[in-house]
Amino acid sequence: MTEKITADLCRQWDAQDLLAPLRSQFQLPDGIIYLDGNSLGVQPKAALQRAQEVVAQEWGTQLIRAWNSADWVHLPQRMGNLIAPWIGAKQEEVVVTDTTSINLYKVLHAALRIAQAEQPQRRKVVSERANFPTDLYIAQSLCQQFDLDLVLIEPEELADSLKEDVAVLLLTHVNYRTGAMHDMEAVTRTAHGVGIVTVWDLCHSAGAVPVDLNAAQADFAIGCTYKYLNGGPGAPAFVWAHPRHVNRFEQPLSGWHGHALPFSFDPQYQPAIGVERYLCGTQPIISMSVLECGLQVFAQAQALGGMAALRKKSLALTDTFMRLVEQECGAYGFGVATPQMHAQRGSQVSLTRTYGSGIDAKDSGAYAIVQALIARGVIGDFRAGGGPGSPHLDILRFGFTPLYTSFGDVWQAVQHLREVMQSQEWKQPRFHQRNAVT
Ligand SMILES: *Cc1c(COP(=O)(O)O)cnc(C)c1O
Repeated sequence: MTEKITADLCRQWDAQDLLAPLRSQFQLPDGIIYLDGNSLGVQPKAALQRAQEVVAQEWGTQLIRAWNSADWVHLPQRMGNLIAPWIGAKQEEVVVTDTTSINLYKVLHAALRIAQAEQPQRRKVVSERANFPTDLYIAQSLCQQFDLDLVLIEPEELADSLKEDVAVLLLTHVNYRTGAMHDMEAVTRTAHGVGIVTVWDLCHSAGAVPVDLNAAQADFAIGCTYKYLNGGPGAPAFVWAHPRHVNRFEQPLSGWHGHALPFSFDPQYQPAIGVERYLCGTQPIISMSVLECGLQVFAQAQALGGMAALRKKSLALTDTFMRLVEQECGAYGFGVATPQMHAQRGSQVSLTRTYGSGIDAKDSGAYAIVQALIARGVIGDFRAGGGPGSPHLDILRFGFTPLYTSFGDVWQAVQHLREVMQSQEWKQPRFHQRNAVT
């Protein structure tokens, strides 16, 4: 592990990479090193033609008939079935619909009703303070409705927080800021041991790390498709409920597509049997159709070793990045928020900077460094910490997507980082102006 990493070594690793042929399936812009597939995946080349086909032929010529002739009506199930093997779900257990935020509302509501039916004395919902804010906002809304307390913890407090007064545990499997990953199976087992229902957010896991919902005996899961699954901006999200729960309660957004017989136009709601009841209204057909292109690349990855191969490459990429940052940028004061241990790591690396190491006492420099990298064509992103005094530092986030990221990309990205630091390029005022989306 102490061997120096060179450009040649990275080239050798690329030459030996069995997943390397998949890169040509993606529309990677010239001159760009894309390390943000954890935020918005790269466009699969097939997507453009698929979008044209849906708009020109299916919508353009078949019109309303396309619900049957192009099978639009079963897109949520078909896309769900393509995602299922990557999250340890069986066929017919997953549907694609709505957004992650909306699906979280549905499953958390169902989880709370299950908890209340079985153990109404439990008054707490536990989540992490550093969970993705939308997850916390949805949880806040539901806790208000159900008159429960939302308890936010730090990761190291998790084991102690799983007590008999907790109704539901809501966790994101891989943390969006740090890339730290929970042991889903162990946490679920502990939670179930004290009668807690679990809801897992797989936004940074699906297509990125091994997930086995059935093996973990998880209760509910949701996740998005526009990150590692490369579904396209705003592509609809997925939802899974364990078969033991799926038919127990109606989800709260009882729209007609979740009805047992939507085209009976029955004035009385009656939920579909199975995960279809988690559908609500008419789906975004164009977006959902294009999602299939991202999922088809995964079908090809299945033939090249599947998740085991993806995970092996992902860990090699993140290991290489961490080692190279130490080797090439050791003098520039970066910390690493992402766990060193493979079992605790997702598919990203988050570098930290302490406050005061930027242009003033409040600034860490992280935002400007990311902007300077983007100006050079190395695309990562910035996530703000809590400011001076907070345990949460500013983060420079780099996502590694084994489908299309190469070891050469990692080498070049770190060379750019070194140059940005060495030349103090990042101190230029233009890199300090905050954009609306960071
Ligand atoms: C990306 C992400 C979301 C996004 O939710 P949307 O409803 O698609 O905006 C939610 N939760 C987590 C943990 C995420 O990483």
